[in-house]
Amino acid sequence: MFNIILFGPPGSGKGTQSQKLVDKYGLVHLSTGDLLRKERKLKTPLGLEAQQFIDKGQLVPDEVVIGMISSALDENPETRGFLFDGFPRTVAQAEALDRLLALKKSEISLVLFLEVDEEELIKRLVHRGKTSGRTDDADENIQRKRQEVYKNETLPVATHYGKLKKVVTIDGIGTIDDIFARLAFHIEKKIK
Ligand code: AMP
Repeated sequence: MFNIILFGPPGSGKGTQSQKLVDKYGLVHLSTGDLLRKERKLKTPLGLEAQQFIDKGQLVPDEVVIGMISSALDENPETRGFLFDGFPRTVAQAEALDRLLALKKSEISLVLFLEVDEEELIKRLVHRGKTSGRTDDADENIQRKRQEVYKNETLPVATHYGKLKKVVTIDGIGTIDDIFARLAFHIEKKIK
């Protein structure tokens, strides 16, 4: 299997690029943010619990998202690989993912790190807040909280995979197509 983590702060373009990447490379897209929003819409107990964290810009507890990912891995035994988007967001999640993949005799092949400076991120998120209908996008204070959580809890995930020499940093500023070409270049270099 070829498994990619698309990594980067909130607003770095992970969702947009993920869609294009799964179409091109035939991977299964696993976005914990999308999975949680689906649960919330269905008003499941998990969705209602998650909502409290999402609306404050906080992370949903590790065991909840790890459970969701574990089920999704089991539901797709025949796939060529997975594209993880918005997961892992803590070192505990990364370690759990590595264990789950090892049980399937697989591993993370590549971590693509979309780098975008903070002012640009806030600008993009304010704009997204006007159109996305996401409650956690609408408020600038929540966006700043999400950036802080990213720096404190999520950035160490890049260090975790950096030690394993799996991380490639990509300039996340430019047109959607330019950024996609940069990502595809590194995937193809790795596939060969
Ligand atoms: P996203 O769509 O990836 O920006 O996620 C939206 C919100 O869902 C985040 O701010 C968190 O509250 C929650 N969330 C998504 N993925 C995770 C994760 N891997 N771990 C914890 N919380 C998450």
